Parts: sequence; structure tokens; C-alpha cells
Amino acid sequence: MKFIADSMLGKLCKWIRILGFSCKFVESHERDPEMMKLEAINEKRIILTRDTRLSAARRNLLPRVVFVRNQNWRKQLAQVIKEINLSRSQFRLFSRCLICDSLLINADEKDLTVVKKEIVKREKAFSKCPLCGRIYWRASHIENSRKLLDKILNEE
Ligand SMILES: [Zn+2]
Repeated sequence: MKFIADSMLGKLCKWIRILGFSCKFVESHERDPEMMKLEAINEKRIILTRDTRLSAARRNLLPRVVFVRNQNWRKQLAQVIKEINLSRSQFRLFSRCLICDSLLINADEKDLTVVKKEIVKREKAFSKCPLCGRIYWRASHIENSRKLLDKILNEE
């Protein structure tokens, strides 16, 4: 399952990545509904948008569009999970870079020189983004987002 989100949905896009799904983020200056539709079709992505022109495309069946109603990102995330019927067993929390969407790989010791010593001491597992080099400490990130996710899904 892959997504493409428009410029109004940055926080939602980040959260889709936290769940482990690819989400392409379209910056406002490059935003063109027709292009987004083409990209979605070519790359089999589900469009996430607040743009009603795109939501009208829903009737054409392809590509699939979720018109995000709420301005609050928690409600947006809950809506997408519900509407796409995503189940927790599909989530791969923190398997993907939140900045550039790449799949993370295990970090080795020499990657950790940029991480604060107390974090290296405290955490057990680290991943890194092969593209942008960002380091993630998995366990804490996963635990925190799981808690927040529980809250968000219970708010519904
Ligand atoms: Zn990255």
C-alpha cells in the first residue's frame, strides 16, 4: 500500500511513513492535480488530499482518492486508517525514513558518532536512512508512537 499526499497534509504524510507505508509528499509549488493523478496511477498510490477537485476523481475509480475532511492530523490519520481499512498487522512502525520515505537499514557503530552519547548508551537498536543518513533509535520511537496511535484510534 502506497500513498501520495498533497502539500496541505504534511503531518499526515509523516504519520503514514511512521506506520511504514510509502508516502510521496507533493510540495505546494509543484502541486498540480493532473500530475498527482498520473503519478498515483503510474505508481499505484492512493491519493490523500483536501482538494475537492481531486476528490471528484473518486467516481472515475482510478486512481483511488481519500478526501481528507478534518484539519486535525489525528482525525485525518484515523480517517485514512478507517477508510482504507488498514489493520495493525500491516503496520511496520519506523521502518521508513520520515524525511525522505526510504526504507531504513540497520546502523552500525560508526554511524552512531553523530548521536549523543547518552542516547547511544540508553538505546539498543539503531537504524539509518541509506539516502539522507538520518539515524533513528527504533525501540523508543516505536513505543511512543504506538501509545499515541492507541490514543488516536480510541478518540474515534
Ligand atoms: Zn532519509
